[in-house]
Amino acid sequence: MAKSRALIIGKLSLLIGLPILVVAGLFFGGAWWGNNHRVGILEIERDWFGLEVEVPAASAATASTGPVGTLVSAVTQTLKPTAPTGPTGSTAPTGSTGAVAPTGAVAPTGAVAPTGAVAPTGAVAPTGAVAPTGAVAPTGGTPPSGTAYPLAERPQVPVELEASYAKPRTLNVKVLVDRAFIAAHPDWLHEVDALLAAASANYDRLFGIELRLFGVVEWRVVDEGLDAEHLHAALRTHSREGADLVLGITGRPLDSRRFDGWSETPSEQMEMNTAYAVVYAQPGKPERLLRATLHELAHCFGAQDEADPASEAWREGSVMSYAYVEPDTPPRFDSDNLARVLARKDRPFETEAKAPKGAKP
Ligand SMILES: [Zn+2]
Repeated sequence: MAKSRALIIGKLSLLIGLPILVVAGLFFGGAWWGNNHRVGILEIERDWFGLEVEVPAASAATASTGPVGTLVSAVTQTLKPTAPTGPTGSTAPTGSTGAVAPTGAVAPTGAVAPTGAVAPTGAVAPTGAVAPTGAVAPTGGTPPSGTAYPLAERPQVPVELEASYAKPRTLNVKVLVDRAFIAAHPDWLHEVDALLAAASANYDRLFGIELRLFGVVEWRVVDEGLDAEHLHAALRTHSREGADLVLGITGRPLDSRRFDGWSETPSEQMEMNTAYAVVYAQPGKPERLLRATLHELAHCFGAQDEADPASEAWREGSVMSYAYVEPDTPPRFDSDNLARVLARKDRPFETEAKAPKGAKP
């Protein structure tokens, strides 16, 4: 009795339930499809039926930014996160310093937009992955804008530091570029590659340090309102993903204090070197960007600013001084700062205390 009643109820449920399921499926499926294709549908309504509908600009916007976004994510994926090694328990570095751009002197203007005529060293794969530059050219390298980067001469190394100078050290540098830099440098991957190659060639001559490009990613940082020091603080929140150093390049105008970079100098008591530097790319001045890079990264090794125009370091145009030098001047470090960097050349870099593990840039 109960069995046949259950059978009838089951049949009735199937008879009524199935069509309802089909209709509901068609309705929700249609709604889902329509939602996913609403831009296309709205465009058809507007273009074919002449209806007054608002077509979101999203399709056009994503199309234009698409390649960059894809490129960036491709580069990000090539960065294999490796667990940072090294001793823990670093203390915070004391004092922050930045290079000041000359206010009075006007540098000879170069080409503002990169011509892209000169291919930098290091192949850039179509996936967006930047291959580490291999052999360093005898020149300082050539930025895509055409002017050759200056190359340092071999410095006079004090006897007690000759062993340190002669012992090669290779460091991986992860580079983040902000939207302003990307906007001003359509060929930004090549520019960064050429910049790092030039910095490496100079550091090799100056300190026996090779800099390898670990990877380039878009730096998602607010476009306005941060000065050099705050940009540096923002940069520190990004994971190094196993790289030794992180260089943040911004294309925004110099801040109100006209610093063209920022990094931290470890105190002499600190066992570890610092690992983050911010540099400003000024339009048409690739050599200024190189100099700022050499300056700010040197801070990570304990180099100190020389702000006294009467000092020897200033007069000889040391990279660590605020003295203005001509764009083609070979970079050089005063003897004090050369010794500071060589003394800390082999030190480990600060641990990533502030960046959450596995954080994405
Ligand atoms: Zn400085």
